[in-house]
Amino acid sequence: MNILIINCGSSSVKYQLFCMRKMSVLARGIAEKIGCRDSYISYQKANASIRVKVYFKDYFTAISKIVDLLVHPQKGALKSKTEINAIGHRVVHGAEEFKSSLVINKYALERIKYYGRLAPLHNPPAYNGIRAALKIFPRIKQVAVFDTAFHQTMPEEAFMYGLPYAFYKKYGIRRYGFHGTSHRYVAQQAAKILRRPLNKLKLISCHLGNGCSIAAIKFGRSIDTSMGFTPLEGLLMGTRCGDIDPALVGYIMEKGQYSIEDVNAIMNRKSGLLGLSGISNDMRDLLAQRRKGNKKAKLAIDVFIYRVIKYIGAYLAALNGADAIILTAGIGENVALIRQRIKKRLGNILGRNFKMLVIPTDEERLIALDTFKLVKRRK
Ligand code: AMP
Repeated sequence: MNILIINCGSSSVKYQLFCMRKMSVLARGIAEKIGCRDSYISYQKANASIRVKVYFKDYFTAISKIVDLLVHPQKGALKSKTEINAIGHRVVHGAEEFKSSLVINKYALERIKYYGRLAPLHNPPAYNGIRAALKIFPRIKQVAVFDTAFHQTMPEEAFMYGLPYAFYKKYGIRRYGFHGTSHRYVAQQAAKILRRPLNKLKLISCHLGNGCSIAAIKFGRSIDTSMGFTPLEGLLMGTRCGDIDPALVGYIMEKGQYSIEDVNAIMNRKSGLLGLSGISNDMRDLLAQRRKGNKKAKLAIDVFIYRVIKYIGAYLAALNGADAIILTAGIGENVALIRQRIKKRLGNILGRNFKMLVIPTDEERLIALDTFKLVKRRK
């Protein structure tokens, strides 16, 4: 069985084609700059890598072109479209309704659109991508895998904000958490590496990429995570500020004569590593500058790591100890300085049996596995 994974962003479509029998990736790539004159698709197969400059005005055209490449007579990974047996879609927000992955029907599609009010930047592209894929592949099963689903096991004490209770009922204001597919995947991998059942393990998973979040995972279930109502809460990230005093929103607006849109843009796109360093949101650039003695690069890295350590400390308390800390995503997988600092700062309280695991994340693989399970079950 071959499964196509589609991950729609605000102006891009990432894709991966899996052969489930071998659990191998047959092809992957990205369609970038949807709606722009200079839009293009990159396509990689074992022995072929091409980049096609092609105009696509919307998700439907982008996904159609991706499928054309997958079945390209010379470079394609497949002979025909009919060799794609199912599609898995990454969807960011499933709110409280979607606690696990599901086969998409009309109702689910409408609800994904509806929850665009909670994730205005993320759910509309997924909705458009699913509609396009349903048009192109009307006969095969398509599955939605939600970033929020894994964190639906959080207890009330972890997901409620200290705001008037009515806001929760009226507007759905609560902590949802994100990166759920990544945390779930690396937790499963950790259990394999430790050769212990996941339902006997207490894990702290640190997804440190351009976006960053930490999850406390007790016996396979997320009991707390650092992102909240939106991905802005928690750790310092590439361009997001993470936790701040909420009173600062009004203060900054007043001091700088900013609109609410300005403040949103500042906190989401101009803060974090980029904002503090004034150099870059890319950890590689900051590490290079730090080596040259740049003080702001050093400061940004120190704040980044300190906050990771602070959250790990909090989750050690929430879990009452942990068997392992997992580091994943671009920064988590590559920056030794973080491992060293965690060990140095937390070494004494982590205990002797404790492990630190670096595990490459692979959200697409988990989406493929979820899709495979659901499609098989319904046959
Ligand atoms: P991701 O969102 O998972 O792609 O991660 C992106 C972040 O990982 C960026 O800040 C990159 O600078 C960082 N990153 C990727 N590779 C490395 C590396 N070899 N060393 C340090 N940072 C890296």
